[in-house]
Amino acid sequence: MIVDHDLVIVGGGLAGLAAALKAAPDLDVVVISKVHPLRSHSVAAQGGINAALGNHPEGKDDSWEKHAFDTVKGSDYLSDQTAAELMCQRAIPVLYELEHLGVPFSRFPGGVIAQRPFGGAGFPRTCYAADRTGLVILHTLYEQALRRKVRFYEEWLVTNLVVREGRCYGLLAYDLHSGEIISIRAKAVIFATGGYGRVYQKSTNALINLGSGIGMAFRAGVPLKDMEFVQFHPTSLLGKNILITEGARGEGGYLINNQGKRFMADYAPSTMELAPRDIVARAIQTEINEGRGFEGEYVYLDLRHLGKEKIIKRLPGIREICLYFGGLDPIEEPIPIQPAQHYSMGGIDVDENCASPIEGFYAAGECSCVSVHGANRLGGNSMLETVVFGQIAGRFASEYIKDIKGSQSDEKALGYIQDEAARLQSKVNQWLKNKSKRNVYHLFHRLRHLMMDKVGIFREKKKLAEALEEIREIRHEYRHLSLWSDCLHYCQEFITMMEFESMLDIAEVITMGALAREETRGSHYRTDFPTRDDQHWLKHTIARYNDGRPQLTYREVKITRYEPQERKY
Ligand SMILES: Cc1cc2nc3c(=O)[nH]c(=O)nc-3n(C[C@H](O)[C@H](O)[C@H](O)COP(=O)(O)OP(=O)(O)OC[C@H]3O[C@@H](n4cnc5c(N)ncnc54)[C@H](O)[C@@H]3O)c2cc1C
Repeated sequence: MIVDHDLVIVGGGLAGLAAALKAAPDLDVVVISKVHPLRSHSVAAQGGINAALGNHPEGKDDSWEKHAFDTVKGSDYLSDQTAAELMCQRAIPVLYELEHLGVPFSRFPGGVIAQRPFGGAGFPRTCYAADRTGLVILHTLYEQALRRKVRFYEEWLVTNLVVREGRCYGLLAYDLHSGEIISIRAKAVIFATGGYGRVYQKSTNALINLGSGIGMAFRAGVPLKDMEFVQFHPTSLLGKNILITEGARGEGGYLINNQGKRFMADYAPSTMELAPRDIVARAIQTEINEGRGFEGEYVYLDLRHLGKEKIIKRLPGIREICLYFGGLDPIEEPIPIQPAQHYSMGGIDVDENCASPIEGFYAAGECSCVSVHGANRLGGNSMLETVVFGQIAGRFASEYIKDIKGSQSDEKALGYIQDEAARLQSKVNQWLKNKSKRNVYHLFHRLRHLMMDKVGIFREKKKLAEALEEIREIRHEYRHLSLWSDCLHYCQEFITMMEFESMLDIAEVITMGALAREETRGSHYRTDFPTRDDQHWLKHTIARYNDGRPQLTYREVKITRYEPQERKY
């Protein structure tokens, strides 16, 4: 089957829906998502979204410039300052736009949008709806998309991006309902496919976050940027790794080791529990590694002193998570927590208009790297990025389509897409023909454990080199796997087989970038190079797909007004 659209947006999370709402109304726009849009990972975002509204009594002196400074400092000076400034300036009108669209934010007594403190922020500037902020924003944008009659293809897994001669012509997708491969011709494509959290064994991300958008774009010739920067969230529920929002510390929660001590005093004496995530996650892991954790695995996040009323009003979702998944009530007991992979700072290389070097191909949200977060993202800045840059992508992709109208040869596009579909079909035929004793899940689990053990919070040359070798071995085995299922309707095994190739690419690029970067910056901590080295490494890593192997080059960081300084909290 072949379908035709002007603009195809892949991803029904916040970035994809923000793009759809800003696309020109006279274009034929469609949103594709591998799950129902309301099941996108954005729905799980808890703590809030940043904007310097100055509504908090302690936030009267806040400004977008101070927000930009905190973002740049939080990024360990790797973010492009022009991009950080753009995002923080846009944050204020975007927040009011969300309010007017109907997002039910929590309020202060006077009626203005409530704000809470978050890590690495100079002022309380995180706007929230209790601890279900992502849910309410996603639902509101989805309602607005339905109201404007945006079309959705739900439960379609995009498998290939069709790029020829530096230009994007369309996509291929697997329709889970019919088991069919669909060819999609498009004048422009926006990827809003989210993060790759599940490449790591311990992750707060949804099970669907395998990163296939990032891998697909990479193999089609789009560069990736700063992939070695992987955020580990300090507080995930022990064992389950469900996120316990930073908002819990924002509301005043303490981190306690087995000596009953608030150990953050030893790591970030002035900001304590509200230091940026990279610092708090390393502090917790250090306490555990040095024997000051519990059972060698966790420390406590203690909310009891906040009192029942505050916990129920401000953190109801966290209480439910603890009751249902941890078997404890945080009003009465401390929460056992451990760090887990949480966010992808790196991603598809795009500029401030969300344009990639490939004509007609755009990306926004967590799958992309503009870059605003540099080496470490501040809490509350990601939802902001998805909406700000989702809107920008929708606008610029629409303009591009209007400029090229009529100039794209439909016949040529069709030929390229059919050629790609034939290649995909022969790959699938080979999987059906192979007679491997193993299925993809063996390799899936092996890769995720490997990334956690050797490319995690603390990194060093030997382990990174071992990881790289093993990723290449796993890739070799993957090429000879067979598909055990013979029915392709709703076939989870087929989905995992398709997406696993991207997981391998992502793992390889993260590891190569981490091995090459002989310094410590933000989330990238090298025990053998424990300091930041601006002289050699104040630069972005760019990975290109070169005949099956990633190749790394580097690019300057854009600096405007915030000179790199030592990062102290
Ligand atoms: C538990 C949790 C809590 C968080 N809390 C906060 C917070 O409080 N504040 C904050 O700022 N940030 C938070 N974040 C981060 C933030 O929520 C995410 O970075 C952001 O929502 C990502 O949005 P997105 O639109 O880029 O992607 P997603 O919401 O992940 O959506 C991706 C979309 O792409 C689709 N897709 C992916 N691959 C394919 C494919 N191959 N074919 C078809 N469709 C595909 C999916 O179906 C989905 O619709 C949190 C993250 C997590 C995991």
